[in-house]
Amino acid sequence: MFWILILGLLGFSLTAAYRGINLLNWTTGMALVLVGFAIFTSVSMLAIVVLAVLFAAIAVPLNFKPFRRKWLSAPFLAVYRKMLPTLSDTEKVALEAGTVGWEGELFAGNPNWESLLEEYWPQLSVEEQAFVDGPVEELCDMLNPWENSHELADLPPEVWSFLKENRFFGMIIPKEYGGLGFSALAHRAVLQKLGSVCAVAGSTVAVPNSLGPAELLVHYGTDEQKNHYLPRLAKGEEIPCFGLTGPTAGSDATSIPDTGIICKGEYKGKQVLGMRLNFDKRYITLAPVATIVGLAFRLYDPDGLVGDKKDIGISVALVPRETPGMEIGARHLPLNVPFHNGPVRGKDVFVPLDTLVGGVEMAGNGWRMLIELLAVGRAITLPSSSAGGVKLCSLTTGAYARIRKQFNLPIGRFEGVEAAMCRIAAYTYSISALSRMTATAVDLGQKPSVPSAIAKYHATEMGRQVITDAMDVHGGKGIIMGPRNYLGRGWQGSPIWITVEGANILTRSMMIFGQGAIRCHPYVLKEMQAARMGLEEFDHQLFGHIGYSIGNAVRSMILGLSFARFAAVPTDRKTARYYRKLTRYSAALAFASDIAMLTLGGKLKYKERISGRLGDVLSQLYICSAMLKRFEIQGRPAADQPILAWAFHDAIHKIQNALGLVVDNFPSRVVRILLSVIIFPFGRHERQPGDRLGHKVAQLLMSPSETRKRLTDGIFVSDKASNPVGLLELALPRVIATEPLERRLHKAEIAGELDASDGKTQLQEAIEKSIITAKEAQELEAVRAMVTEIIAVDEFESSYLRMGSSGDPVQVRDQAA
Ligand SMILES: Cc1cc2nc3c(=O)[nH]c(=O)nc-3n(C[C@H](O)[C@H](O)[C@H](O)COP(=O)(O)OP(=O)(O)OC[C@H]3O[C@@H](n4cnc5c(N)ncnc54)[C@H](O)[C@@H]3O)c2cc1C
Repeated sequence: MFWILILGLLGFSLTAAYRGINLLNWTTGMALVLVGFAIFTSVSMLAIVVLAVLFAAIAVPLNFKPFRRKWLSAPFLAVYRKMLPTLSDTEKVALEAGTVGWEGELFAGNPNWESLLEEYWPQLSVEEQAFVDGPVEELCDMLNPWENSHELADLPPEVWSFLKENRFFGMIIPKEYGGLGFSALAHRAVLQKLGSVCAVAGSTVAVPNSLGPAELLVHYGTDEQKNHYLPRLAKGEEIPCFGLTGPTAGSDATSIPDTGIICKGEYKGKQVLGMRLNFDKRYITLAPVATIVGLAFRLYDPDGLVGDKKDIGISVALVPRETPGMEIGARHLPLNVPFHNGPVRGKDVFVPLDTLVGGVEMAGNGWRMLIELLAVGRAITLPSSSAGGVKLCSLTTGAYARIRKQFNLPIGRFEGVEAAMCRIAAYTYSISALSRMTATAVDLGQKPSVPSAIAKYHATEMGRQVITDAMDVHGGKGIIMGPRNYLGRGWQGSPIWITVEGANILTRSMMIFGQGAIRCHPYVLKEMQAARMGLEEFDHQLFGHIGYSIGNAVRSMILGLSFARFAAVPTDRKTARYYRKLTRYSAALAFASDIAMLTLGGKLKYKERISGRLGDVLSQLYICSAMLKRFEIQGRPAADQPILAWAFHDAIHKIQNALGLVVDNFPSRVVRILLSVIIFPFGRHERQPGDRLGHKVAQLLMSPSETRKRLTDGIFVSDKASNPVGLLELALPRVIATEPLERRLHKAEIAGELDASDGKTQLQEAIEKSIITAKEAQELEAVRAMVTEIIAVDEFESSYLRMGSSGDPVQVRDQAA
């Protein structure tokens, strides 16, 4: 009976920890168990008293707050203050910026799936849908990617005019200022469609609608600034760019050496209080054609002209292009995707103080503005453009793999090709779900700083894998550039999207987990703030945190031991076991993160391999959630299940790998053992998706179906045979329909019934020998002509290819000089 009592106490404690019951309730529950055993069982009174004394020795000090604060929390606070990473003001701003949504649930170890599934899922308004189906389709039809990227290195004048007339540059500008006032979802839909056609057009539209003067003015501008600039930006009368990055300040953008000194000076013939700006920016998208430059610099007031502060901090001003001292117009060439991008330099450029975004009151708040707005921009621009690009890869690679034959079989039937194709399909599914979920978060009023970093990083990284796979499946057809090549430029440009909006290595290593851990953790940020406030508040947070950590350790172990069979998940779904796995790894992430923060403290900031992997776990949990939400919203289509299953198991395998590598590489041996036992009590059993599943997924890309339509929905597909993608889609059903005829001819050839081997004569002979009818031969001839055009590549005269034939290729500025 004594051991039953011990088991009872242990069982109650584990249940309490699993369910997150607070300290007082645990104490009361334990006391009741002891009293119950004393009254109703035969356990010896001596044993009960010994256990009660031991229990009291633990429970009383923990529940008696003055004692607990003095002897436990106070010494810990002294150590904690030393362990706290030193954060610069700008890091603090970054950590506190943005809101916490679903990622907070995943990070805290006990996600409430019903809340995710019930969350409102907005749709495009009628007006937005009409814009996507109207002007956006028309624009896509006007675009000629080869001409834009190779011949003009620009969009033609009629496209620029179309963009301006249809307010493409004013999608995020409210209607009252003449903009389209679109939702994030509509913004996403436009960029997705453009992303499937032409990166030059996509980037040109994306920048004015993301981080740039319009976004800054809408949120922080003075009424005067809004009234002046927003209508002009909406109509494209002003073309904006935004300059933050410079030669020495890349990823570490807060170190910008560019300055503004407050002083008096002459502006448009009048003496005014203003700023003398000196700056050197590079990589600035749209700068060469911009009429207004949003400029970030550090503002100083050495003579105290506007206040007591001499170093005011990072500020943002709008500087017109024609301001004397501006040097603008030269172009960089980003990997042969020639959207406008170039340097902006300025020497002693004088502008009045009212050019500061938000006026003098907002001086010094530039970093906060940029961080908050980047959270929104990152959630939409690149994930949406990536979604467009990968959907195009899925569509074209599936069709091409069916149409292109080698060894007398469509190449998509070979297992090696299948391996690439199922990655293409699955990542297309995840990127599109991910980009939809982050855009939705913006529409629901969030500033999703962590999900936007996840979306930017993973959409572009998976996108890079997809375009590489698509190129591999296309073989030489993807390599030979020209108007017939619909992939090559996308592959060339794929590293661009990895770098812009913050290079991915930094996003993965520092932002997703670094920011995520502190933002999403239910206690860490509060503890850091409490450490500054005093002992009482710190004690409160600390004990909440300890309970939370014990809870996650217990949950992680129990979920690991039971393979999460009893986790609270939506069990009415066929996908219930997916939710169970996610719940298990969410608890494991919460536990591993706490251990990492507790044992490494401030050093975790520099342990980027550990934090990067923990960030990968959070990211994959988020991506899986987005996929499950997508599956539910689309009505759980059974035909899509193989793609979801492949993408899900691939993500879970990545989660296991990332957690496994955290465990294996943890600096302390004791911690390695502890993590291993709690997170992987039975070892690591997740497997990569199997070949049979991969086969089903790959085949789904190779013939028209509702699943293929859903997977590639929202991109531009021309209905003209003169367009290479349009031709593929027109040919695919006809190629499939004529496959039995091709097989019949092939059999006849092997059986020696046909002598002729060249196409036309063979068809004639087959008609004569009644192997096929004349009508069938006619269709075969037409389809074969289409296939010949599809597999054709471009050829050029040497003179056409010679660089610099129409311009001087000499560098505008010799950087070394
Ligand atoms: C085509 C293009 C368009 C752009 N458009 C604009 C624009 O319109 N406006 C603008 O202001 N900027 C723009 N940028 C800048 C861009 O947003 C990046 O922030 C910038 O390129 C990063 O700086 P860098 O290239 O000098 O890389 P570096 O800072 O030199 O970084 C090099 C590598 O080191 C990694 N790294 C650096 N620090 C860390 C760290 N602590 N931990 C882990 N990894 C780290 C980075 O991730 C990167 O992989 C653009 C860049 C490009 C290429």
